Amino acid sequence: MAARNGRQFLQRLAAARVHVEIQGETLTGGIADHPAFRNVVRSYAELYDMQHDPAYRDVLTYPSPTSGEPVATSFLVPATPGDLAKRRQAFKVWADRSFGMLGRTGDYLNSALMALAAAHDWFAQADPAFGANIRGYYLKVREEDLLCTHTLVPPQANRAVAASQQAAGSLMAHVVREDDNGVVIRGARLLATIGPFADELLVFPSTVLRSSPEDKPYSFACAIPNDAPGLRYLAREPLDYGRPRHDHPLGSRFEESDAVVVFDDVHVPYERCFVLGDPDLCNGFYAQTSAVVHMTHQVVARTTAKTEYILGLVSLLTQAIGIEQFQHVQADVAEVITTLETLRALNRAAEADAAVNEFGVLTPAWAPLNTARNLYPRLYQRFPEILRKFGASGLMATPTQADVAGPAAADIETYLQAAALGGAERVKLFRLVWDTCISAFSGRQALYEYYFFGDPVRMAGAYVAGYDREPYKAAVRAFLDRD
Ligand SMILES: Cc1cc2nc3c(=O)[nH]c(=O)nc-3n(C[C@H](O)[C@H](O)[C@H](O)COP(=O)(O)OP(=O)(O)OC[C@H]3O[C@@H](n4cnc5c(N)ncnc54)[C@H](O)[C@@H]3O)c2cc1C
Repeated sequence: MAARNGRQFLQRLAAARVHVEIQGETLTGGIADHPAFRNVVRSYAELYDMQHDPAYRDVLTYPSPTSGEPVATSFLVPATPGDLAKRRQAFKVWADRSFGMLGRTGDYLNSALMALAAAHDWFAQADPAFGANIRGYYLKVREEDLLCTHTLVPPQANRAVAASQQAAGSLMAHVVREDDNGVVIRGARLLATIGPFADELLVFPSTVLRSSPEDKPYSFACAIPNDAPGLRYLAREPLDYGRPRHDHPLGSRFEESDAVVVFDDVHVPYERCFVLGDPDLCNGFYAQTSAVVHMTHQVVARTTAKTEYILGLVSLLTQAIGIEQFQHVQADVAEVITTLETLRALNRAAEADAAVNEFGVLTPAWAPLNTARNLYPRLYQRFPEILRKFGASGLMATPTQADVAGPAAADIETYLQAAALGGAERVKLFRLVWDTCISAFSGRQALYEYYFFGDPVRMAGAYVAGYDREPYKAAVRAFLDRD
C-alpha cells in the first residue's frame, strides 16, 4: 500500500480494537468517533490527505524503493543534502498545518525507524535476527504507512531507586517469560501520547539501565500492534470539551491524548523484537544509531513552525490593542524573533555540517540540533508568559460564540472593539491567545515542550558530558602558563 489518505487512516482506526480506559468508560474500539478523540483524529486524517494533495504530495512523498508507489518522505534514507532538505520541508509542511501543536505526527517516529533500520548491523551484533527484524519492521511501517507511538519512561513511583527496583521490580514493564516464538511483557510505562489512536506501539528503551543481571528483563525494544491482547491504555481526562472551534480554536482540533500504558502479559513474537536482555545496547539505542539526530531534525522543524505561529499571534495581539510602541513589548517580541532565528540557524548549521554515519546515512550535525533540543524546553515557557502579559484583562473579556451571536452581540461589538479590530473579530483573536496561554490545552502544551524529549536537567547533563571541552581548557591553561 502507498502513503495513506485520511479515509484509509480512519478506516483502519475504525477496525482496531484498542483497549482504552477513559473517564470511567472502557473502550475496545470506536476510538475514531469517541468525543475525546474524534476531532484530533480528523486533524490527523487531514495530514494523510495532504500526502495526496497536488500542492504537497511531491514534498510529502517519494517513490518506495521496493514498490515504486509513493511513500512518506519521513521514511526516506537521506544520502544527499537534497534528501535532508526534502525531509525538513516535509516535516515543516505537516507541522505548519497544526502550528506545531501536534507533537506526534507520524514523521517523528518514522524518522527514528528510518535511522534504526539503516543501522540494522548494530542490532545484528546481539543476534542477526534482530538486524533483520528492525529492517523488516521499518519496511512494514513504511509500506503500510502506519502511525506509531512510543513509550519509554517507567512509572513514577519512587525516583530515589533504580526504575527496575520500584515495588520490588514489578512496576516497570519487563519480560516475564519467553516461549517458543516470543516474549511476554508485564508491567507499565509512562506515557504514550496518541496511544489511543495510533496503529502501533514502539516499546523502546529510555532510562539508563545498569549492566547487571537484574536489569536484563527491563532491557528490550519491540513493537506491538496497538490492539494486542493484554495491552491497555489509561487515558488522561480529555482537554477537548467538544466546544465550537470559535471557543476552543486549538483544543477542538489538536488535543493529542496522553495515556499510561499497561502490559497485562502481552505476547510479542520474536520477529517484532529488536533488542532483548541487553542493557548496554539499550543504553546506546538512540545515540549509536543516530536515531536521536533524525528525531531532533523533525522536532526542530515542528518547533520552528510553532515559534512562527507565536510570532504571528503576538504581533496580531500587539497591533490589535495598540501596545506595539512600548519598549518592553518590543523587547519581548524580539525574544520570540530571537528564538525563531536561533532555531533556523541551528537547523541550517546541522544540515550544512551533515556527514555520512557508519551506516551510510547522511546525518545532520548533532551539536546544533542538541543545542536546539536543550534550548527549546525552556524558551517555549516564555511564550505563554509573554502572551498573558500582553493580553492582560483582555484575556478575560472573551465571550463565547453563543454570546457573540446572541443578545450580547451589540455590547460585544461596541465595548470589546480593539484599535485594529471590531468586537467580534477581537474576541475571536483573544480566544486563540487564551487557548495558547491560559487554557488547559495550553498548559499541557507547555508541559509537553518541557518534558516530551526527556527531563531537560538530565538532557543538559548528557549535553555537557558529550561536549568536547578539552580545546577550551587547553587554551585557558596556556594563558595561565604565559609569562
Ligand atoms: C505531555 C507529555 C507527553 C509525553 N509523551 C510521552 C510519550 O509519548 N512517550 C514517552 O515515552 N514519554 C512521554 N512523556 C514522558 C517524558 O519522556 C518524561 O516526562 C520525561 O522523560 C521526564 O520523566 P518523568 O516525567 O518520569 O519525570 P521524573 O523522572 O519523575 O522527574 C520528576 C522531577 O524529578 C527530577 N528528577 C527525577 N529523577 C532525577 C534524576 N535522576 N536526576 C535529576 N533529577 C531527577 C526531574 O528533574 C523532575 O523535576 C511525555 C511527557 C509529557 C509531560
